[in-house]
Amino acid sequence: MSLMIEGAARSRGGHNVQEEPEPPAPAKHPAAAFSPPMIVIVAVWMGLVTASIELFIFWFRWRFIDATALSSLQLNQHAMWMVPLSDAVIFAGAGLGVAVLARLTHSRRVAGLGVAALCALAVYALLLTYRGLSSLACGAMSAGVGFRLGLLILAHPRSCRRVILATAPVLVGATVLAWSMEPSRERLAGHGLPPAPAGAPNVLFIVMDTVRAESLGADSQGRTIAPVLDRLARRGVRFEQARSSAPWTLPSHASMFTGRLPHELSTRLDQPLDSTYETIAEFVHAHGYDTAGFVANTFFCSRWFGLARGFVHYEDVAIDAREIFRSSGLGRSITRKLSTSPNDRPTAYFERKDATTINAELMGWLRRRPKGRPYFAFLNYYDAHDPYLTPEEEGRRSSRASRSAAELDVLRDWHRTSRNGVRPEHVRLARESYEECIGYLDRQIGRLFEGLEAMGALENTIVVITSDHGEEFGEHGFFGHGQRLYSQVLHVPLLLIAPGRIPRGRRIATPVSLSSLPATLVDLLGLSTSSPFPGGSLARYWNGRGHRGASMDALVLSEIDDDDGRRREGPPARAIVSEGKVYIHSDGEREELYDLWSDPSETHDLSHDPANQEILARLRRLTDGQVTAIATGPATEFGSPGR
Ligand SMILES: [Zn+2]
Repeated sequence: MSLMIEGAARSRGGHNVQEEPEPPAPAKHPAAAFSPPMIVIVAVWMGLVTASIELFIFWFRWRFIDATALSSLQLNQHAMWMVPLSDAVIFAGAGLGVAVLARLTHSRRVAGLGVAALCALAVYALLLTYRGLSSLACGAMSAGVGFRLGLLILAHPRSCRRVILATAPVLVGATVLAWSMEPSRERLAGHGLPPAPAGAPNVLFIVMDTVRAESLGADSQGRTIAPVLDRLARRGVRFEQARSSAPWTLPSHASMFTGRLPHELSTRLDQPLDSTYETIAEFVHAHGYDTAGFVANTFFCSRWFGLARGFVHYEDVAIDAREIFRSSGLGRSITRKLSTSPNDRPTAYFERKDATTINAELMGWLRRRPKGRPYFAFLNYYDAHDPYLTPEEEGRRSSRASRSAAELDVLRDWHRTSRNGVRPEHVRLARESYEECIGYLDRQIGRLFEGLEAMGALENTIVVITSDHGEEFGEHGFFGHGQRLYSQVLHVPLLLIAPGRIPRGRRIATPVSLSSLPATLVDLLGLSTSSPFPGGSLARYWNGRGHRGASMDALVLSEIDDDDGRRREGPPARAIVSEGKVYIHSDGEREELYDLWSDPSETHDLSHDPANQEILARLRRLTDGQVTAIATGPATEFGSPGR
């Protein structure tokens, strides 16, 4: 109807104007151009324009200011279509409300005020991209600016309508195009790849985020926590003293992918892994592998932090209605205000995924992918990470189903529990819940293997199962991970399984570093001649190859190279395992020395013991530059006198 009115208005401005009588046209209310259906169109258009500006702001900040500032990380790789869709839905909802109100009241004033309110909403959404503004300030500013914008639109109603009707299809088309491009990108990535070597095995690389080795034994009631992992270990080699290179997710994964140590890498709390070093996924993809990653830690394992490099297919955030809604600033703001879920707390930008989701994603991809190439699939499970709550469905069946509301509150708030005042029963609760989460994860890994075996996807496949770091429960006065270099956070499980390539049921007690994994994998794949990865292959522990020097014992190094996200002024805090001892150098001057075999929990510091001064001095010298020289050298193995 309003289009007809405008058509008539236009014709009056053309040659027909002469033929019409000239009654004095009654002054139209400016809001008359915005009928209720037009208000909804205006609202969707404003949503799409807001999303475009929001995306531009984030792109600009990401490109020119801070690559992974926490605010820009609120976007995921599907942002180009998710954010417009989210804003369009929110604005359409608001527009519908205004339209209904305008229709019921037959008031042009209401329609005019509604347009102004939509402008205010758009300004509010854009102000949300700026950190540090309070809701009150955002509200006041958006009301003021929105009102002025509304007046501007109402002052030129017809030209605004024309612009809106002309550009809305373009904005909708761009959103649909962004949505449809992802599958094409994946198809293109396979073109021009060389064929993989004949008979090349698949690789299944599983990282159980936050699972420490010492929690894979028995729980307080003597029950085995992870029976599936125990069974799987009998199919291959279990490294009983594997240690991660770093005590937190990003540098640890980056080290497992590049073979490099944290001080060599760009990874910080606010900096992604850059492209200096090739990743194992890039390497195998260049050798003809089909690569895919499925990550439940959708923060540090997201594309933004560089860990997706080399994976043609990468699933981090879930693509569902909830995630789409949360993708825009307005959507996140609304979700947080309405939700009580721990996943919506300010530091958890994305919905975490449980193990069943990760399993389903991998199985779905394996079924869909074109056959003919071997696959390299990386899984990151996040179920053992705080708040240590198993999925509800699983919880009902577990022995902890009777947890009280107060206990659940303790767990949900565990990340901000005052560590100094934490009560022993709460620590016990957290630890038991953590072990229960590992039990849940263990069962899901069992289901994954059953599913993979049923579809024949495990034939001719090398399986790696490990963790990026462990977790502390006050053993040294700390909780969580990322701050210290004690065994609770560095000692992780490591299983390598490949029937016919790796012996069955072998246990290896020698300490090894997860930074050896890329070199090990390319060795097992028969591609080591062109390997860019430093360090020796762990295969030397069962086949004797690659072994130089008198001992197979290796110097195993772990580091914290940042301080709350900033590069440390001094040397990184380091933990070294060598000669049967653990040496920890932290806080500039602090030295600790523990016996690896008699004191695995590191409770008795030997650094002041006169009998250990010689080895203490030797390990200290290794931290003063020698380690860096050795570690950055070309594909050298760390030699040590042996224990
Ligand atoms: Zn982690």
